[in-house]
Amino acid sequence: MSSHSARSLEWGALIPYLALHVACFAVFWVGWSPFSVTLCVALYFVRMFAVTAFYHRYFSHRTFKTSRAAQFVFAVAANACAQKGPLWWASHHRHHHRFSDQPGDTHSPVQDGFFYSHVGWIWLRSNFRSTREGMADFQKFPELRWLDRHDLLVPTALGVVLFALGALLERIAPSLGTNAWQLFIWGFCVSTVVLYHGTYTINSLSHRIGWRRFATTDDSRNHRGLALLTLGEGWHNNHHHYPGAMRQGFFKGEWDITGEILRVFQRVGLIWDVHQAPARVLADNRDARVPVRGVESPPRRVDLRVVDQQEMPSCS
Ligand SMILES: [Zn+2]
Ligand SMILES: [Zn+2]
Repeated sequence: MSSHSARSLEWGALIPYLALHVACFAVFWVGWSPFSVTLCVALYFVRMFAVTAFYHRYFSHRTFKTSRAAQFVFAVAANACAQKGPLWWASHHRHHHRFSDQPGDTHSPVQDGFFYSHVGWIWLRSNFRSTREGMADFQKFPELRWLDRHDLLVPTALGVVLFALGALLERIAPSLGTNAWQLFIWGFCVSTVVLYHGTYTINSLSHRIGWRRFATTDDSRNHRGLALLTLGEGWHNNHHHYPGAMRQGFFKGEWDITGEILRVFQRVGLIWDVHQAPARVLADNRDARVPVRGVESPPRRVDLRVVDQQEMPSCS
């Protein structure tokens, strides 16, 4: 990473990315309607679920199994977040776990500062272009390699569909008070930009604020607010302690909405062989309050009833 080219920026992708942020200011021109803002929020949460459930818990950590067809549908759903393809995403995330907060980590606020870990790392040409390292298990699927190569196809289609839907609704349901540009700006631009920064908090803030249950070798934290914002990913100290668990909220009261939805997926047979944290992992350091500097002190009372663990019989 010391050579000049390794530190140069991927301007061809950075400029559209910045333009997407600037486009959010168009809300002052297109106005708003309850429909457009509701759709913006809905697309944030649906896509946050897709990126955490599939790019993270499936493609990066293989915490459950599914069929080849569902695997592709899951990849397409998460690809709608405009955070590149499944192989690129999971490859960089696996790299983060290999080094977490040590020299060589792709995005560590401890090593390289907050801004770099939040967003700067993506725009280094060496990171933006590299892909598939450590992904031998998934790169054997041609459909995933294809999606990775054409990672703008799905996000572009989403933008076009929203624009067309707005134009249609303006004509057939004028009482909704929306139109093509309004739906495009709220549903695509604002929702995607907020989703970017919501996702990035796991790389930046989740290694900076919150409290620690497990004495991992990195600086990962648990934070209830971040867990809500990211549908469960904010239990990041739990996750670094045992990345192989589908659920990241290990104990009652550690809300993990993605974990709850995936349990429904399991019940209806969409996914199986769901891996959870074993009892010995949950017992490990359970009562320890590792003192770290952080904005939030450890909760005084923690409910230590376990939600899911590996030894439990499957819920049938
Ligand atoms: Zn991390
Ligand atoms: Zn992870």
